[in-house]
Amino acid sequence: MSLLEHEEVVVQRGRRSGIYVVVAIHSTVLGPALGGMRLWRYGALGDAIADALRLSEAMTYKAAAAGLDLGGGKAVICVPPDHELQADERRELMLDVGDIVDSLEGRYVTAEDVGTGTDDMAIVRERTEHVTGLPIDSGGSGDPSPITARGVESALRASCKHRYGTDDLAGRRVTVIGLGHVGSRLAERLAADRAELAVSDIDPKKRALAERLGARWLDPADAVTAECDVLAPCALGGAIDRYNVERLRCEVVCGAANNVLAERSLADRLAERGILYAPDFIANAGGLISVYGELHGLDRDRQGALVDGIGVALLRVFEAAEARSVTPAEAARALAEERLDAARETAAPVDAPAV
Ligand code: NAD
Repeated sequence: MSLLEHEEVVVQRGRRSGIYVVVAIHSTVLGPALGGMRLWRYGALGDAIADALRLSEAMTYKAAAAGLDLGGGKAVICVPPDHELQADERRELMLDVGDIVDSLEGRYVTAEDVGTGTDDMAIVRERTEHVTGLPIDSGGSGDPSPITARGVESALRASCKHRYGTDDLAGRRVTVIGLGHVGSRLAERLAADRAELAVSDIDPKKRALAERLGARWLDPADAVTAECDVLAPCALGGAIDRYNVERLRCEVVCGAANNVLAERSLADRLAERGILYAPDFIANAGGLISVYGELHGLDRDRQGALVDGIGVALLRVFEAAEARSVTPAEAARALAEERLDAARETAAPVDAPAV
């Protein structure tokens, strides 16, 4: 990935808050670039920019593979490492983001992501109409996390179907890393499916959920390499890196996190090690489907049908990967690229007639 692959990157310091905001638009070939707004502490602005570039590219593939008429973009708010945001400062920051998003005139549409929520989107809405994921009482679709979790469960079942010949999760040993908005809901669904659950979070307060669900608690330092059937990374990106990939003791990787693999080439290593990898941008498309539904006025049933289709789409990816002897990640990207190429061709300017 290089900067040149992106259509547009804006780095701007909030006029009110003084905090840096990065908006990366990777592609608008299929429609406006939609992607959540991440609020995180970064040691350096360059790290925030790198995150925005990576995440926005993944959004392009996610929308394309899910069959949605959307491009890929992402906003990243770069909060200094030891800075605690006060409520009034947060409001100013969201107004700043609203102005920056508005200046892009609809080429980028924002939504919530790690560190932001529906209340933040309501403030952004005061400055721009190019925002989705609004609270339900403001006419929005609300928090997309429950739908994302439903989609990840669908992907997890499809992965088990492909790997073990059954999508029954009863007794299946699943490790969920990160019990945030999505991970906690996924863990609840898996507990209801009677999976043998192990969970982990850097926030010790999440132990209460583990106890309620009867799940084993794992120390975050050991969770990735703990023995299980399915590893479900639901925290931040880069959960699997070139070091821990050699020590993984799972047979399937399928989670909600964006950019689960620290480097794209790790998909090859997983395949060599016989570990089935459900490409993250297929497995976690539920949230995008939710906000897409809000933009296009789809009812809950239609959204639910699209989300439950994630498992079907993933099975197709696994089959295509086997047929072409490539990794599922490569097969999924090829699928998305086919759609992007077709859209580019349709949009190509017709040669001017000779005069
Ligand atoms: P969140 O901030 O609510 O939850 C993240 C959780 O991970 C927190 O509880 C945090 O304490 C924990 N965590 C962070 N680092 C950890 C570590 N090293 N080990 C264990 N736990 C750790 O975020 P979320 O909305 O649940 O999103 C989780 C992931 O899913 C992100 O990568 C996000 O981009 C992706 N995602 C979310 C949605 C959505 O609908 N929210 C949709 C698609 C993708």
